[in-house]
Amino acid sequence: ELTQTQAQAWLASFATTILDHKAELNELDTAIGDGDHGTNMTRGVTQIQTVLQTSLPDLSTLLKQVAFAFISKVGGASGPLYGTAFLDMSNAAKQQSAELADLIQTGAAGIQRRGQAQVGDKTMLDVWQPVAQALAANQLTSQKIDTYLQATRDLVAKKGRASYLEERSRGHLDPGAQSSDYLFQTLLTVI
Ligand code: ADP
Ligand code: MG
Ligand code: MG
Repeated sequence: ELTQTQAQAWLASFATTILDHKAELNELDTAIGDGDHGTNMTRGVTQIQTVLQTSLPDLSTLLKQVAFAFISKVGGASGPLYGTAFLDMSNAAKQQSAELADLIQTGAAGIQRRGQAQVGDKTMLDVWQPVAQALAANQLTSQKIDTYLQATRDLVAKKGRASYLEERSRGHLDPGAQSSDYLFQTLLTVI
């Protein structure tokens, strides 16, 4: 079970990690996109830091406010995708369970529904989906998350701006997979 206290520590750590890696995320996106993923995510996590300073009644409300931060501040393709993931996790925490593996599986399903990507399309889903599976098996490690991220390097992008490059998208990490790697690396530090 993910507690509200754990989620607050997780998202605070994620925010500072994104701020520390803004330039790196922009560089990854410059190679196969439009160079703004770090800038986009920085706007979102700055709003998340504001949300974390307010007092919220429960986990579901926290996840919903985080979803709104992504949707209202990030823009780009990644904002609505992260936003959908957190909105669906908020609803699941309210109506079904706050079991961590269930929540992340719900988030991954939301990204897939919203973005219509499959695993292997070189997107953030290539981190979210295997992370959800490893969590369900109680086998998530830092090394595994990095393995999922690194696997995006050799893929050809089928969704998002990187897909315009076709074969030339190969050989570069997917920026959204890198920010998702940070999301789950920071999650591991609080559970
Ligand atoms: P934009 O491409 O609009 O500039 P960002 O640079 O913030 O937005 O985000 C790009 C990231 O969004 C990609 O690296 C990829 O991980 C993710 N992404 C783009 N399209 C999709 C999609 N259809 N499904 C899942 N993830 C996607
Ligand atoms: Mg971009
Ligand atoms: Mg953009």
